[in-house]
Amino acid sequence: MECIFCKIANGEIPAKLVFENEHAAAFDDINPVAKVHTLVVTKKHYENLLAVGPEDAETLRGLHEAIRETAKLKGVDASGFRLISNCGADSGQAVPHLHYHIIGGQPLGQKIV
Ligand code: 5GP
Ligand code: ZN
Repeated sequence: MECIFCKIANGEIPAKLVFENEHAAAFDDINPVAKVHTLVVTKKHYENLLAVGPEDAETLRGLHEAIRETAKLKGVDASGFRLISNCGADSGQAVPHLHYHIIGGQPLGQKIV
């Protein structure tokens, strides 16, 4: 399957990973919108959050551990950050592989839209 995030998360494309565990991998966004902009993606392919079910609880546990550890490694755990997962057409989701954006490293303001 031609999925760029599958390839990065599973080491088929060399990338500088910020964090990795059994279920997820984190790497900096290629087009950052803030001082810290890191993506945390699952190793298994899901189109987005709607594709995840109760049988995927272990994957979600690993994904959330990766989010917490990545926030610490990027130094935004104390200062705070915004966590975004785009889902479907209206969100503008560009890569159809489940991922979270960790955005921070500076004050972000109130606007989300
Ligand atoms: P989405 O709109 O799907 O939530 O966001 C996809 C994000 O992935 C965008 O912020 C984009 O800059 C980032 N991105 C797309 N392709 C690559 C890539 O090959 N490498 C990295 N590091 N980021 C990518
Ligand atoms: Zn994928």
